[in-house]
Amino acid sequence: MKGKIEKYAIKIIIKSIIIVLGVFSISLFIAHRSINKKIYNNFAKQIYLKSQIVNKEITNIYENNMKLVDAISENKDIKIYLKEVKNRQDIKTNDLYSKLSNNFEYTIQSNNIHSIWIANEQANFIINANHDIDMTDYDIYKRPWRQLAVDSQTAVLTSPYIEYGTTQKVISIVKAIRDNNKIIGYIGVNITYNNLENIMKKNNAGKDGMNFLVDNQNKYIYSHLANDNDDDIFRNLLLNRIGLLKDNSKSHTKIKHNEKFYNVYYNKLNVNNWGNIQLINEEEIKKEQNSFFLVILVIFSVTSILLLVIIIYERITYKLRENVLKEQARIDIVTGTNNRSYFMEQAMDEFSLAKRQNRKFNVLIIDIDYFKSINDNYGHHIGDIVLENMAKVSVQSLGENAIFGRLGGEEFAAIILDVDEEEALLSCNKLREAISGMYVITEKGNISINVSIGLTSLKKNDMQFHDILKRADEAMYEAKNNGRNKVKLK
Ligand code: GH3
Ligand code: MG
Ligand code: MG
Repeated sequence: MKGKIEKYAIKIIIKSIIIVLGVFSISLFIAHRSINKKIYNNFAKQIYLKSQIVNKEITNIYENNMKLVDAISENKDIKIYLKEVKNRQDIKTNDLYSKLSNNFEYTIQSNNIHSIWIANEQANFIINANHDIDMTDYDIYKRPWRQLAVDSQTAVLTSPYIEYGTTQKVISIVKAIRDNNKIIGYIGVNITYNNLENIMKKNNAGKDGMNFLVDNQNKYIYSHLANDNDDDIFRNLLLNRIGLLKDNSKSHTKIKHNEKFYNVYYNKLNVNNWGNIQLINEEEIKKEQNSFFLVILVIFSVTSILLLVIIIYERITYKLRENVLKEQARIDIVTGTNNRSYFMEQAMDEFSLAKRQNRKFNVLIIDIDYFKSINDNYGHHIGDIVLENMAKVSVQSLGENAIFGRLGGEEFAAIILDVDEEEALLSCNKLREAISGMYVITEKGNISINVSIGLTSLKKNDMQFHDILKRADEAMYEAKNNGRNKVKLK
């Protein structure tokens, strides 16, 4: 019985663990897929937003300065000046020179830009309001902005270049000034490269991410790598990769740099078809995933431990309850001694053992004399107390190698093991005297009782325990008939 229950409990525990693990793995698998997708999408969104900020900030620079460039290009004095200056000697001798220079200086200060310049092709000259320049090697045809301005009717943003006469890296918003469709000069507003660099640095995606700005021909305008000569292979690889992404701003590709994997995104900007390339370190994405799965794991572990504790607790309380029930099933409630069924179970086991091993085996039946009168005189409750005391005294008197139990009513039985008949007879008389000597104190006076005992021992012919029990019963009745308060051996 016990083994069966244990096996059953173990089966349940194993089944529960299999179910829990199965459900957990499936949910984890599904969660992993959807979370993975979500995390990648979130990063894509975050990156797209950063790109939009870059786009907006660069477009703002362009649009604000384009207005300035447009306004200056319509200025009559400038048009006159550009037409009148025919060679480099005319630059400063022209009457309009100081007026224009002052105007430019004022505009530079109020618009927080790096410099403003105008140039024309006839004199191959430039006025730069920010600094006086030595013109000796100035060649308008070599300036990087010239062709851009010639090709466009509106102001355009140049890629970074080194400003003539300084070592400053600048970007120009440049426009050709036209008179009846003929180019009479150029106007440029310069901002420093730092302006772009700050925008890019500020909007880098991720802690270990990178971003790059490229022009419409995929030349780098801003590069995350500190030194421009640094890692050209990587930069070329990157340009190859973004070729695939240009059509779809939501897709991304992967690239390896310095043993790190990056997800690469490309977004087109509104200005000059420039592009913003953003790289985010795969580790950052994974970290986000890991922290999510760590939370799941902790929740699962805590739940599993709780479940296990509940199962174990249930199992222990079940076991305790079972033991109590077993105990209850063996004990007689009135006397606290072995009940009939448990006494018979033990007696039969001992009987078979004694027969097999040829051991000594004595059975006695004890019946209280005139017990009915105790009930009649003192009440059933007092009768119960007498029964309880009698059982206690009996167990004590018979000692350890005896099994004692209540057969029913006021009738008890005992088995005395491993002693011969004479010794058993002595024990019976000792028991009879002990019971006679006992008394129960009540309000109506003390109660004492006597018992009649029938004793017999195992004989060769006894095949079953009932044979020997029957003989003991007969002996007990003989004791009754002989005047009670006696032990009769049969
Ligand atoms: P005898 O000497 O012939 O054995 O007389 P007796 O009165 O002991 O025998 P009898 O069989 O006539 O009566 C037994 C009585 O035991 C009857 C019943 O009321 C009482 N009895 C049986 N079981 C219980 C019990 O659990 N509690 C109490 N208080 N009395 C019980
Ligand atoms: Mg009786
Ligand atoms: Mg009786």
